[in-house]
Amino acid sequence: MYILKRYGESRKDTCPFCEKHGTTLNEQGIPTCSDHKGRSLELKCVCGQWLDIKKGKWGAYAQCIRCGNMNLKKALEMHVPEKPMEGKKDPPKPHVPTEITVRSDEVDFL
Ligand SMILES: [Zn+2]
Ligand SMILES: [Zn+2]
Repeated sequence: MYILKRYGESRKDTCPFCEKHGTTLNEQGIPTCSDHKGRSLELKCVCGQWLDIKKGKWGAYAQCIRCGNMNLKKALEMHVPEKPMEGKKDPPKPHVPTEITVRSDEVDFL
C-alpha cells in the first residue's frame, strides 16, 4: 500500500511567551524556549474560564470546567502572547538622504 506522506506540515512549536522557537518543555509540558521553561502558562478559554493545563498521553492539553478538554494547540491559538511592558522600541531612524555621486563623465561641462 502506497502511503502519501505530506512533508509540508512539519510541526513547529513556538514559545507562547515570546513566540521564539519552542525547543524545550516547561513543567506543564508546553513547548517553550529555553528562557521561559521556568514559567507556567495561564490560559483562558473562550468562555472566560481559566484553563487547566493537563499532561496527557499525547502531550499537554487544556481543560475547561465548562467546555471540557481541548487541544493545547487550540488553546494556544486563542492566547495572545504577552508584550514586554518596557516597550523597548527603537526610535525611528533619521532619514539620511542617499548621496548621489555624479560621475564626471555624466556631467556636461559646456
Ligand atoms: Zn520564550
Ligand atoms: Zn470554556
